[in-house]
Amino acid sequence: MQANTMKAIILDHKNNLNLHHVPLPVRKTGECLIKVSKAGICNTDLEIIKGYMKFHGILGHEFVGEVICADSTDLIGKRVVGEINIGCGDCFWCKRDRKEHCPNRSVLGIFNKDGCFAHYITLPEKNCFLLPDSISDEQAVFIEPLAAGLRIIHQIDIHPESNAAILGDGKLGLIIAMIFTALGIMPITLFGHHKNKMDIVSSPLIKKQNNIDSVDHQKYDYVIEATGSKKGFEDALNLVKPEGIVVLKSTISDLSDFNLAPIVINEITIIGSRCGHFQPAIKFLQTHNIPLEKMISKTYHIDRWQDAFLNANDGSNVKVILTFEQ
Ligand SMILES: [Zn+2]
Ligand SMILES: [Zn+2]
Repeated sequence: MQANTMKAIILDHKNNLNLHHVPLPVRKTGECLIKVSKAGICNTDLEIIKGYMKFHGILGHEFVGEVICADSTDLIGKRVVGEINIGCGDCFWCKRDRKEHCPNRSVLGIFNKDGCFAHYITLPEKNCFLLPDSISDEQAVFIEPLAAGLRIIHQIDIHPESNAAILGDGKLGLIIAMIFTALGIMPITLFGHHKNKMDIVSSPLIKKQNNIDSVDHQKYDYVIEATGSKKGFEDALNLVKPEGIVVLKSTISDLSDFNLAPIVINEITIIGSRCGHFQPAIKFLQTHNIPLEKMISKTYHIDRWQDAFLNANDGSNVKVILTFEQ
């Protein structure tokens, strides 16, 4: 590899994924040039490959890396993670530090911005957050989904004496279960279909179930839906108590022939929940024991990207990580 080129996993306009040699990204004023050390393959990446967001370019949005070049010299040489939404800086939402709702935003590896499955990326300095030494690279690569999980706690006040159901044993469901356990929210029931995945959340305080029984009908004050499927939303409406709250994490695009009547009849509150901020997630990780690294199923060098994506598509793996040593 020449000094001014790098390897990158690129989704082309025909939705073919391939490893390419491309020029290093050019850093603009206010941006960091970051050398990526680890990146996580996320379900969103797998959806993008199937056509979601019609994205083309370098894939990937979950990473940890080292700042090589920046205007702020105190960042250079430091380990960072990066928030994925890049706002215009000027609008109603950006002025309130809610750049994830900026109508002119780009999103790392998802919309109008090359992602992190490459040796180097650029990202605005204000999107980058320093990592304390106590947080390993293996944990840091999960800061983005951890922040998304913590977003729930910032959106709703969960009453300590209430019960919660978490639907889905993918990365996000497991992280939410870890967060709730760390916060002492109980009782919790985690619904999923993979014993090996649910075993990662080792707390004896969590009840784990494969199937929804008739006794679970309208049993829960809070239901967190993180299955990624329409069926998960249906199940959530079945599980939640009248006047209860359903937090929806899955982006379900097709709700045709879906019966919304129970929401009205049972006066259910539905809360959509997406990205969270990184600084509180880093703090949370420093002060709570969240074994995020246990979710890493396999790690591959970028040269073995095909094996990595094959395994990321295998439902028995929770998380596949890419590394980038040269
Ligand atoms: Zn992701
Ligand atoms: Zn904006």
